[in-house]
Amino acid sequence: MAGERVLIIDDSKEVRDVVCDVVLKPGGYQILSTGNGEEGLRMILEQRPDLVLLDERMPGMTGLEVLRALKEQNVQVPVIFMTSFGSEGLAVEAFRLGARDYLIKPFEPEEMERAIERVLMEKRLRAERDELMRRLQEANQRLERQLQEMRALYAIGRSVTSQLDLEVVLTRVVEAAVFLARAEEGFLLLIEGEGEDLILRAAKNLDDNTVQELRMRVEDSLAGEVVRTGKPVVVGEGPSKVVTGYLVNALAYIPVLAPDRRVIGMLGVTNRQATRSFNDHDVQLLSALADYAAIALENARLYEEAETERRKLAAVLQETAEGVIVLDTRQRILLCNPTARQALDLPDDVIGRLAAEVITNRSLQEVLRAAPKLRRTLRTEVAVKDGRTFNAQLSPVEGVGFVLMMQDITHLKELDRIKSEFVSTVSHDLRTPLTTILGYVSLLDRVGPLNEQQQEFVRKIQRSIENITNLISDLLDLGRIEAGYELEMEPLHLEDVIAEAVEAHRPLAAEKRQELRWERRELPAITGNPRRLRQVLDNLLGNAIKYTQEGGWIAVEAYEENRHIVVRVADNGIGIPLEDQPYIFERFYRVQSEETEDIQGTGLGLTIVKSIIERHGGRVWVESQPGAGTTFTFVLPIAA
Ligand code: ADP
Repeated sequence: MAGERVLIIDDSKEVRDVVCDVVLKPGGYQILSTGNGEEGLRMILEQRPDLVLLDERMPGMTGLEVLRALKEQNVQVPVIFMTSFGSEGLAVEAFRLGARDYLIKPFEPEEMERAIERVLMEKRLRAERDELMRRLQEANQRLERQLQEMRALYAIGRSVTSQLDLEVVLTRVVEAAVFLARAEEGFLLLIEGEGEDLILRAAKNLDDNTVQELRMRVEDSLAGEVVRTGKPVVVGEGPSKVVTGYLVNALAYIPVLAPDRRVIGMLGVTNRQATRSFNDHDVQLLSALADYAAIALENARLYEEAETERRKLAAVLQETAEGVIVLDTRQRILLCNPTARQALDLPDDVIGRLAAEVITNRSLQEVLRAAPKLRRTLRTEVAVKDGRTFNAQLSPVEGVGFVLMMQDITHLKELDRIKSEFVSTVSHDLRTPLTTILGYVSLLDRVGPLNEQQQEFVRKIQRSIENITNLISDLLDLGRIEAGYELEMEPLHLEDVIAEAVEAHRPLAAEKRQELRWERRELPAITGNPRRLRQVLDNLLGNAIKYTQEGGWIAVEAYEENRHIVVRVADNGIGIPLEDQPYIFERFYRVQSEETEDIQGTGLGLTIVKSIIERHGGRVWVESQPGAGTTFTFVLPIAA
């Protein structure tokens, strides 16, 4: 790269001409030239050549003196020093004063050419290096700024998620906006009321007067435009403008958008003194900050909502007459209302403790133990210390654990008791007149001949009386069993009881041509009431025969398992529809279908079975497939 300006200072015109003609001109350099040291110095100072070729010995001012003057004035210009043969000492001095090279006269033009080339190359490289350094520095500054921006955004992000007070977060957002956009002031306005007003929620560097004024109508302010359009507005460049009622040089207003893109407010920065206006990058940063403000506001709203719901729920739980306990999946108590606390006599500090540790009621403990395995609602009755009875239900709740609900059924239990007593009394009192009716009806044909139709009527009356008598016996039995009367327990062998019941039912089964299977096996003794256990088997066998078609089979088996006796009465009869199965042990419940229509029954048999088995500390259940058959199973504990 030629074209640089080279100044040659030499009092020898001959040398000047040679250098100019042979070296500089062919090299394409611009030439400045003088024969005088003083003149040379002046030209250097005024014209700043790229290179100086400086002779030592000149009239007026020597080359060294020129170098010294340049050094004193701190002028950086590359100099090639020319000196005569034999004065190398001067050359050393010239180097010390900053010369880049020296040539000893006489020199070959190529020597000069090479020296010029070398020095200028050095100068060019230095210039390039300086340029690179400058750019590097710029890039560094940009990077540093970006880092600062990132740090500021990150810090805001953290304050938003760390659930700080909303006011604090919003103020931080505005402070960050002022810092990142290098603005003088900043503020955050939020839409309030019916969406007509913008109210100041946070500000940085705003004076009090401005703060007072910052309640804007959405329809008539510049901020209103942002809110209506949902787009940023940037004003700047040029002389002061009146916007939003006060004087600014530049402003940027950014909409604050809720997650559903609804505009909920506006973040603004302004410059009043400085003239710097805001660019796209500023708008980007401010938009990120506006998003953070939106997130903080949304969080606060959700929190408020959740808190309101929680308070409502707490109030309901506090007031309700039902006991409620919420457990997590490991059955730690999350929540316990006063009713539950009082009913179960729980300590004050139950929250966070294991349910099994604080709930001492036996039936509840059983339910709590069974719950994790069964994953369905379990029910039990709980008698508490103050005499009340609760119906307790433990249900699994997805994502929470379990909830235990307890309804006070004391008065229902009492009503039930009164009703049972009443039924018992009435049933008992009905028996006597019924016996009388039955007696006289059976005497009718003895006191005179009855015609065929009269005989048929008498049979119908007798059958009806029989049904009523059965019903009354069942009712009385149930009342007695539930009240716990006549339940003297003794050691017995269940296989004896089963054998008797089976034998007693053989004629009935034979009548329907049914096969009745039973293989007697010796079993350990149990403690029980033989009459009542016989009643259980009579009921189950009676049902099996009743609800199995002619030619079917009934099979009874009994075996020992886990310190219990298991008895199964199976048939291949009509079966029980799935939807009826949960209710068949309830009082008076009978399956209503075409198949059962003509079968007589009271609907009390299975209720009696269940009562008796439970009185013996056992359990009974049914498995049945409609059309295929039914199996009733009961288990009784073996005597200790
Ligand atoms: P019921 O006096 O009507 O037999 P239970 O209480 O003994 O009353 O039985 C209730 C209902 O359960 C019956 O009405 C019947 O529908 C059904 N059931 C009982 N045992 C069987 C069985 N072995 N097969 C089919 N259904 C049965």
